[in-house]
Amino acid sequence: MADSGRDGRSAVQNREHLFVGGAWIRPGIGKTIEVVSPHTECVVAQVAAAGPVDVDLAVRSARAAFDRGPWPRLDILDRVDVVRRLETLYDKRRPDMADLITTEMGAPTTFANRAQVSLPWMTMKALIDAAADFSWQEVRPGHYGQDIVIRREPVGVVAIIVPWNMPQFLTVIKLIPALLAGCTIVLKPSPEAPLDALLLADMLEEVGLPPGVVSVLPGGRDVGEHLVAHPDIDKVSFTGSTAAGRQVAAACASGLTRTSLELGGKSAAIVLDDADPETVAAGIRSASLSNSGQICNALTRILVPANRSRDYVDALSTVMSSMRIGDPADPSTEVGPLVTRRQQTRVRNYIELGQREGARLIVGGTERPSHINRGWYVCPTLFADADNGMRIAREEIFGPVLTVISYRDVDDAVTIANDSEYGLAGSVWTSDIDLGLTIAARVRTGTFGVNQGYTMDPAAPFGGMKSSGYGRELGHEGFAGFVDTKSISIGKP
Ligand code: NAD
Repeated sequence: MADSGRDGRSAVQNREHLFVGGAWIRPGIGKTIEVVSPHTECVVAQVAAAGPVDVDLAVRSARAAFDRGPWPRLDILDRVDVVRRLETLYDKRRPDMADLITTEMGAPTTFANRAQVSLPWMTMKALIDAAADFSWQEVRPGHYGQDIVIRREPVGVVAIIVPWNMPQFLTVIKLIPALLAGCTIVLKPSPEAPLDALLLADMLEEVGLPPGVVSVLPGGRDVGEHLVAHPDIDKVSFTGSTAAGRQVAAACASGLTRTSLELGGKSAAIVLDDADPETVAAGIRSASLSNSGQICNALTRILVPANRSRDYVDALSTVMSSMRIGDPADPSTEVGPLVTRRQQTRVRNYIELGQREGARLIVGGTERPSHINRGWYVCPTLFADADNGMRIAREEIFGPVLTVISYRDVDDAVTIANDSEYGLAGSVWTSDIDLGLTIAARVRTGTFGVNQGYTMDPAAPFGGMKSSGYGRELGHEGFAGFVDTKSISIGKP
């Protein structure tokens, strides 16, 4: 279903239909979602909002496609062919996709093109190649001399729920392995960022999947709650906040619905005293402040040696105060607006809290620089002399706010890094790679970077420990999340 205008700045888009099982239908509840530009604060799109009736229809259609349709029964190479067609289309629509993401959630365009769109496209290609190597079936010699066939079968009807911050990347790393495994899917994008998902639905329609294989239902939390509690859902693949993840896990418990949860983080950068301050500051800028700080694995607790604290704080302060803040459509912009006024208020409240808690405000702390008179901006903000017990050091802020905490020695640094509810990512900065790897092994997180923030790689499993969730995406482990294993023992005829 065509858009009424590619650029949300020049025309309000109307998307009046939901993509249900391959067809565009009018929503059951007749309500719309207003998509508001975080930069102009103007409505840029009206999108059909799904309700429980649409969820029921989509799940019914996915159930039928899984139980009786061709998709789960196709040879893997045939599914690969279809997904490759999607990848080819996706490649062509990359500029449109990046524009939509910048429009709906305010990601600076340079970041949107690179990380929000080209990265998912590249990941799509890598996952398609990896599907050929995944062990869909193997034969093992049994203990009693018989052969055992181990089959990895599609897990069934999958609910995919994603947040607004990296909407395409987070969708692709679930949708593509789920499709390749032979699952059928109901995707629920967030109400803040539905436009990219609808463009993806356009492409899925063009690719020509069998009926029922994918539905795309923009909607809020109520739609997500109805979807995950639906008895015909076999697996929920969820990315979002830890609070919502807990609710999803609880809703899935009684039906024993399989879940994978990619949740929040409060990741530490352990800076050793041999690390060059300018290099560290440049690395932290890209690892922690890209996407205006709205990244789950951002390094937001910067742990520095007490005797060199000033060097690192000065270097970070120089970098953060020089970042270009402004219109996300401007290619030179490094920091754009936050996604919603609610998110801006939340971040501002944390900045006030940090000051009340006694942390020293070094740079930022204000909503907008003087040259911007609208939009949900927060200037990059640096706190120093903080304590790991402060709420600004313990809670996920999800904005461009970093907190520097001093440590006494390496053991103290590792203790502080681990003293967190979360376990998504971490990093160490040092010229001694062996020491870096030793420290990596001591920090309880699902991902870790040595002299960099964790870099997403399609070959490497991604996910969290502790309250950052469970399950892994990407790599072979990413396929494993969308299959169930069947063992077939073969006796003599
Ligand atoms: P959120 O939890 O409010 O919403 C995420 C999605 O879940 C949305 O689509 C929302 O409508 C839906 N939802 C909310 N409550 C639900 C419920 N009870 N049942 C079913 N669906 C529900 O999160 P957000 O504010 O959109 O996104 C930011 C959060 O996502 C941050 O905490 C961030 O760390 C996390 N995140 C994690 C990762 C990761 O890979 N670990 C990646 C990106 C973002």
